[in-house]
Amino acid sequence: MFRKILIANRGEIAVRIIRACREMGILSVAVYSEEDEDSLAAMLADEAICIGPAPSSYSYLSAERILSAAIAMGADAIHPGFGFLSENSRFAKMCEECHIRFIGPDSETIARMGSKSEAKKNMVEAGVPVVPGYPGVLPDSQTGKREAEKIGYPVIIKAVSGGGGKGMRIIRSQEEWDLQYASASREAEKAFGDSRMYLEKYLENPRHVEVQILADREGNVFHLGERDCSVQRHHQKVLEESPCSVLTETQRQKMGDAAVKAAKAVGYENAGTVEFLLDKQGNFYFMEMNTRIQVEHPVTEEVTGLDLIQAQIRIAAGESLPWKQEEIRLRGHAIECRINAEIPARNFMPCPGTVTDCHFPGGPGIRVDSAVYAGCRISPYYDSMLVKLIAHADTREAAIRRMEGALEELVLEGVETNQEYLHEILAHPVFRSGEHDTSFLEKYGSLNE
Ligand code: ADP
Repeated sequence: MFRKILIANRGEIAVRIIRACREMGILSVAVYSEEDEDSLAAMLADEAICIGPAPSSYSYLSAERILSAAIAMGADAIHPGFGFLSENSRFAKMCEECHIRFIGPDSETIARMGSKSEAKKNMVEAGVPVVPGYPGVLPDSQTGKREAEKIGYPVIIKAVSGGGGKGMRIIRSQEEWDLQYASASREAEKAFGDSRMYLEKYLENPRHVEVQILADREGNVFHLGERDCSVQRHHQKVLEESPCSVLTETQRQKMGDAAVKAAKAVGYENAGTVEFLLDKQGNFYFMEMNTRIQVEHPVTEEVTGLDLIQAQIRIAAGESLPWKQEEIRLRGHAIECRINAEIPARNFMPCPGTVTDCHFPGGPGIRVDSAVYAGCRISPYYDSMLVKLIAHADTREAAIRRMEGALEELVLEGVETNQEYLHEILAHPVFRSGEHDTSFLEKYGSLNE
């Protein structure tokens, strides 16, 4: 087992990983930017080191600075968390070259699955159903336009290196093509330094259902049930739950098997998520694979009773998973709400500032993953997520009620948040019925704007 793990991240996920290290008897090292000197992660970790100025490109996104810190602190492994360098194959390769274990899959797998078009190609070969579309990267806009005509509108174009809903456009007719393609590829170039696009059929009103998998070095691959992430704003997740309320046991089995097949096809190791779109007829299609731990992993932890961060660390250290698939059972229902420092009434504009006072909810079935404390500053440099609130109960309805109570109890003063907005989502009859799809917030999302 590792002696010391450096956490190449910040905020609540850094705290989450520190806690896992502590329970496993592993020393933790937090890294922080000058902006994050007073962060909870820096306070809770066994050791902490400053890695540079506030902008992420000089700190949390600097592979060189983070690796230097790991070497200087004598860490034998790095946990990348999510975002930042977590899906950066160059960084994973640098770790490999420095003989520091990157807690995640190897650099080649990250590169292969990180390209959305390449990943899809691998899935087609493995016999996993994929969203119909053009196989591979579009050579140019005109070819794309011709292919879109063949596939049939509406279509969606996506940045090959995309993420977070950036570089993505829905195109509903040929007339819109030129303008949308140009704007999406420009956005992708700016955000990812890669303007390449690919094309697929746009499925109307599907659900976003993803399967968590864990795979060890010996090739044992398990699926840990699904998460429904259909409550989205601009293709970004707002609230997640497990299990998905419309999935039958047979579909769950099929989707889990497909996810395992996908992971096996690329010799996957460590934790990963296979994302699918589920249509109204119950057909599902592979969309992409995320080669890291996800923001929404706690809902899976609550229903399976497994600790995914600890599992990641054990797998990276070479331990095998001594389980049988049928032993992994889903118990009850879990929901996660992402509480952000933002102003819903102003188009969800981020709202940095100082949290002058806070009170976290508690009681049975409530979990709070956060790095916030009274007096902490919310920096404009980083993500605006303050708190992940997770509720677990025997049924979906009971979990929703528990979450409603927790949202009412949660106090965050000094910054504006989306608490009220989340509360309205939970109370909405369409959400309550469990029949919502990815168009839910688009249709009803003006809630309290
Ligand atoms: P990103 O990696 O930027 O988050 P994804 O490929 O994961 O992008 O897609 C984000 C969301 O966009 C999905 O959850 C879904 O709601 C929507 N989406 C993506 N592809 C399609 C598609 N072919 N048809 C319908 N909706 C889609």
